[in-house]
Parts: sequence; C-alpha cells; structure tokens
Amino acid sequence: MAAPRTHRSALALYAVLLVLPTVALGVIQWRHIEREHADELASVPRDAEDAARRFREALRAEVDALLASESQRGVAQYANYYCPDSTPEGEVTLLPTQLRSEPRPTGVLGWFSFDLAGGDGASLQVFTGGEQLAAERLAELRRASLELHDSVRNEAWLVASAPVEFGAERLELPVRALAASRAAQGDEDCIEAERMLLANPVRMVAGQFQLRFYRDAQGEPRLVAHRHVRVDAIPQLIGATNCLHRVSEGLGLVQGFFVDLGWWAGVLPREVAARVLTKRERFLEHPEGSCEHCADYHADLWLIRDMDVSAAPQDEAFGRMQIAIDTTELDARYRSRLWRFFGMGAMLFAALGTGVALLWRSVEKELEQAARTENFVAAVTHELRTPLSSIKLHAEMLQDGWTTDPAKQQEYYKRIVRETERLSTMVERVLEKAKLTSTTAHPTPCDLTELVDNHVQQLLNWRITDAPDLEFELAEDLPRVWLTKEALHSILVNLVENARKYAPVDFAKPGATPIVIATLATADGPALEVRDRGPGVPKAQRQKIFDAFYRLGSESTRTTRGTGLGLHLVSLHAASVGARVLIEDRPGGGSTFRVTFKPAPANA
Ligand code: ADP
Repeated sequence: MAAPRTHRSALALYAVLLVLPTVALGVIQWRHIEREHADELASVPRDAEDAARRFREALRAEVDALLASESQRGVAQYANYYCPDSTPEGEVTLLPTQLRSEPRPTGVLGWFSFDLAGGDGASLQVFTGGEQLAAERLAELRRASLELHDSVRNEAWLVASAPVEFGAERLELPVRALAASRAAQGDEDCIEAERMLLANPVRMVAGQFQLRFYRDAQGEPRLVAHRHVRVDAIPQLIGATNCLHRVSEGLGLVQGFFVDLGWWAGVLPREVAARVLTKRERFLEHPEGSCEHCADYHADLWLIRDMDVSAAPQDEAFGRMQIAIDTTELDARYRSRLWRFFGMGAMLFAALGTGVALLWRSVEKELEQAARTENFVAAVTHELRTPLSSIKLHAEMLQDGWTTDPAKQQEYYKRIVRETERLSTMVERVLEKAKLTSTTAHPTPCDLTELVDNHVQQLLNWRITDAPDLEFELAEDLPRVWLTKEALHSILVNLVENARKYAPVDFAKPGATPIVIATLATADGPALEVRDRGPGVPKAQRQKIFDAFYRLGSESTRTTRGTGLGLHLVSLHAASVGARVLIEDRPGGGSTFRVTFKPAPANA
C-alpha cells in the first residue's frame, strides 16, 4: 500500500505546487489587466484635453493668420481711390483700391471703412472684392456696415476701443498717401492744385485688428474684425482748399471686415479637426452631438472665449464645441486581453485538470489492483489450503487406521477425490484463462438449445440440494449461432455454479423457486439466460465482476469460496465467439445473467 499513498501525496503536492500558484498568478494577471484598462480609461480625459489644446492652437493660428494678412493692407487702401506711397515726388496718381478688385480671402465677407466723426454715414465705404456678389448679400453687407457705422456713438465697445495707442504702430507717411484718398472723392484737380502741400508728412497710428462678436438689429450673429486709425492734424493744411480740409483737422477712422460666420464656426473647425485630430479623437460640432463609443468625458471648446473674441457675456457660449475620445479601440483591446487571458487560463486548467485526473485514476487503479491482489492471494491461499488440508487429514486418517468401517473408509476416499477435483478445477481455470487470452476460438454454427440440453443431466447431478434446484425453459427452433462446445460449457457451468453459490435455492423457505436456465430469441439474437433469486449485483459492480480475480466484498468477511475467475472466463469465452454478456435485475428480485450470441447465417 506504499505506492498508492505515495501517489496520494504526489497528488496533494501537485495541487499545492502547481494549481495554487497558477491560481494566484492568474488572479494577479487578471488584476493587472483590469488596472491597465482602468489606467487607460483614466487617461482619456487628459487625452481629450490634449486634443482640445492642439485643436485650439491650430484654430487660433488660422484666425491669427487671417488677421495678420489683413493687417498688411495699408490704411490708405480702405478708400475708393488711393495715392500709392511710391509715386515719384510731386506726382499725384490716384489708383482704385485693391479691395475693389482683389479676390476676397476665405472667411472675409467684405471690407468697410468710415470716419469716426462722420455721423451721417457719408464717409462709409464698403468693398466686396473682385467677385460678383449676389445683390442680396451685397445689400446685407451694406446694411451691416451702415448699422455698424450708425452705432459708433451708441455702442460703448466701438467708442471704448477708439484709442489706438496700445500696441499700435506710429506711421509717418507723405500726406498725399492718405490725404489724397480722404480728399473729396478723388478730386484730382484739387489734389493737383495742392500738390506742394501734399508733400508734408502726416503722422498716424493704426491699431491692431480686433475681433468682436455681436448681434445686429435683427438679432443675427455677426463677427467683425476692426481697427482704429488716428491721423494727427496737419497744421500746414489748415485753411487749405476744400478737398484737403478733412485731413487738416486730423481723423479718427474705423476700418475692418466682416468675417463669414459659416466659415469661422463651421468650415474652419472642420478643416482643422481633420488636420490635427487623431483617429480616436472625435470633433463634435455641437455639445449634444452624440458619439457612441466615446467615454463620458469631453473637452469643451468655446470659439468666442478661446479665440479672444470680445462679446457680450450672454453670447460667450456661441460656437461651443467638444472633443471626445472614442474608446472603441481601448474596449476592444481590453476585451481581447481578457479573452486571451481566459483562453490561456482555460488551457492551463485543462492541462492541470487532466494531470490531476490521470494521477487520480492511476492512484485508484493502484488501490484497486492492490485490493484485488490481496483478495486473490487470500482466496487462492484458502482454495489451496482447504482442499490440501482436507486431503492430508483424510489420507492420514486412512493411513493411521482410524477407522476400520469400510463405509467410513469409502467416505474418506470420496472426500479425498472431491477435494482433489476441486484443486484440479482451480488449476484448470487458471490454465483456461491463460489459454483463452493467448489463442483464438474457431466458432461454428450451432444449435444453442441443443447444446444446453446436452448439459441438463450433468448440471442436475452436480446439485447439492435434495430436490432439483434447476428449471429449464428451452426455446425450440432458434436460429443457429456462432459457438464452440467448450465456450458454451464454460459459460453455462460457471453461471450455474455462481447462481448456486450466491443465490442457493432454500426449499425450506415458502415460495422458493428454482434457478431458471433459459434459451430464447431476443432482438439481438438467440440468448442464454441464467436467472436466480439471489442478492443481485450492484449496478456499479456489473462491469467489474467480469475482471480477473475480482470478487465483491472482502476476503476476510466472505463466506463463499472462489477465486474471481468464473465470470472472467465467461466473458473471455463469450468474446471468443462474438457473444455479449450482461447482467440485469430480475423482476421480483435476483439477477439475470444473459449471454446473447451472434446468429449464424441460415446457409452457413
Ligand atoms: P468467484 O465466484 O470465484 O468469486 P466469479 O468471477 O465467478 O468469481 O464471480 C465474481 C463475483 O461476482 C463473485 O465474487 C460474486 O460476488 C459476484 N457474483 C457472481 N455471480 C453472482 C450471482 N449470481 N449473484 C450475485 N453475485 C454474483
């Protein structure tokens, strides 16, 4: 029993050294995956903020670029005609402003310019570039510019932003560059007459363009870029001819352009988003814009606030957008990691489980084998010792002349012969088993009933009861089956012997019925049945009792003699002729041992 115990300990060690650490490692790995995923999710808000920052900077750069390029335009160009700086001294040439002919840059709806002092709108000039604008749009632009002009005095923001010193550049230009353009609508004769005066320098300060968002009289949102220009008074021109009169006293100008809101709040952000955002960063034009796999966290963007645009507080939310992070990839990665983890875990557990199961089976087998060997040794010892001691005892008694009674002496001889037969039966069985496992039988088509019938007398003679304990129910005209005489003999004798041993008929008991030996036709072929009223065989043991040396119970408590070879021989003989043996509960108690034989073809 040392080996099974060793195996049991090995099993315990296997579990402790392999299974437990594997489980522990699995739990650690699982937690690691969970933590990694949680960390990735936690970084989503940071990623969204980062994307929003990149987006904001790119958008800002675009708007700044527009303002910078527009700032290049000379102050004097915001007039229908202007006198270029590069005109040779003394010569006065008026050119139509480029704002009338140039293509409008993307995002610019149209330019305007007016004097701060002019209250009637007479100084307002509107330019729409070289492109033919729809009359409607042109009219709208004029209306917007006029409205802006008219609101100059009332609107605190325009007046307040009038001082232009801050951040402004002070310019010194020949007076003609500006004066001519501000002269009475390009009055060339007047300008020509005053050409000497126009050579005086004029000083002016031009502010930076500022963006302002407001709602016009109709409540329509508008975005305007405007700058203030202050031109100092030119004392030399005071008292000059009419055409230069306005310039002589100094000027306050407002110049600028309307920004296309559709471009600023729509096209431009979309373009920027396509350029600067990565595959997983989503640009939501509206805060309520849905994004199926985006994490709950979004970074907000406000066009007004982020672009440093002045606006009334209630308008600050205009152009609110969001950047969200699509977590589909993160989720998919997490799921695939989990699947891989569980897949590997399952494989590992299957491998470990198989190992444990195999080890367990081997331990079980070892135990079973050990028990069987123990049983066999005990049984054989008993089976050998009992007849041998009986033979020895009776032979000694005869030898020592214990009895002179011839009848007694005869009985002793009989006992010696019977015990010798028992011994030889046992030896024969062992030899039969050895022979059956090494050779194959040569079955021929036989009449099952006839072969069984040939055994009737012999079986009845072998009984130990006074009254016949066997009853035969032999069916006639059964199809022939593949069989050998030896096989049928061994099967029948062993089954009957077992029935007599384990289910003896006790005629003293009322209602006792004999053991039935039957041949019958079944769906699978002709069969031999031995039915008894014994204790039956537990279902779990029905397979095992056909194993060599297998006996129910333990040798120490068993009262019946045997070696566990009888049924094994039955199964070997049955297999040698292609028959099948099975045990069933007999209705009313006891067991039925049925051997179903292979039918032989009718013409065989
Ligand atoms: P043996 O009779 O030498 O023990 P067998 O191989 O003939 O060996 O039988 C194996 C075991 O099956 C027996 O030990 C017995 O416990 C059980 N067995 C056999 N026949 C019967 C039966 N008719 N009723 C109940 N148990 C049986």
